[in-house]
Amino acid sequence: MLVGMNILGRFAPSPTGVLHLGNLRTALASWLSARAAGGRWIVRMEDVDGPRCRRDLGEAQLRDLATLGLESDGPVLWQSDRGEAYRAALAALHQTDRLYPCLCTRKDLQSLASAPHVEDGLRPYPGRCRDRVWEGYDRALRFRLPAGTATWSDRLLGPQVDDPAALTGDPLLFRRDACFAYHLAVVVDDAAQGVTEVVRGADLRPVTATQIRLQEALVLPRPAYAHLGMVVAPDGSRLGKRAGALGLEALAARCISAAEALGWLGWSLGCLNHPEPCTAEALINRFDWAGVPKAEVRVPEAWT
Ligand SMILES: [Zn+2]
Repeated sequence: MLVGMNILGRFAPSPTGVLHLGNLRTALASWLSARAAGGRWIVRMEDVDGPRCRRDLGEAQLRDLATLGLESDGPVLWQSDRGEAYRAALAALHQTDRLYPCLCTRKDLQSLASAPHVEDGLRPYPGRCRDRVWEGYDRALRFRLPAGTATWSDRLLGPQVDDPAALTGDPLLFRRDACFAYHLAVVVDDAAQGVTEVVRGADLRPVTATQIRLQEALVLPRPAYAHLGMVVAPDGSRLGKRAGALGLEALAARCISAAEALGWLGWSLGCLNHPEPCTAEALINRFDWAGVPKAEVRVPEAWT
């Protein structure tokens, strides 16, 4: 188990609401992937996104994970405590002239505002402010992407080639309201925590190339990536407002137990032939990336 001991998976939710079946599926897959390889697994709270993030919501998410038998193998890191590390990373990027001030107004950037949860409508930053000279840290700051495509191998999807300039454009790393942005925090913390494997939803696949470029600029190691198909409503549409009704508590109120939810999640990840109540532990030996479906998964009609 020498190799396995060095594997570290992570689940990194934003504490802005209840974990729904999509979040829980990602959590379980990242846990199973790490455990099946004899590795460890940690939870990190991505709470840099200002007032939408709440400690109590994060604590409730941790309780839900524990209900499924998924507990962090180390202290839970809260990104709101990590300002110093992010500031140091910004300084390192500034030293190599990779940052520039962005003076675009909120209205200009409306389409980019929801960076941590990229939707289909993702539009790349067009680089309007690229030629601006440095004006200090009281401006919003963007990372100057180098030209060219990034390639990586996704554990589920296989070889990937993306042009980050076409997908996100130069990402915002520091906001005018002095908040650190998602891309910076995630890249810095994955490296600081020694994360070797990032399992997350396919909605974040388009930002992977951008994060790889940022890792390279900061001379940080690249973790392995796996992007899971999304969990969608029975009719194939995005969960949207229904997502809130698909947390463990809401399911329990409709007499769907955690063991049943776990069985469905395990089945959706190719670990079981039928959705049947089970524990997370029982799925470890059945988990294999080769058996995980790439397609999106529909929530059972009866659960909505
Ligand atoms: Zn700008």
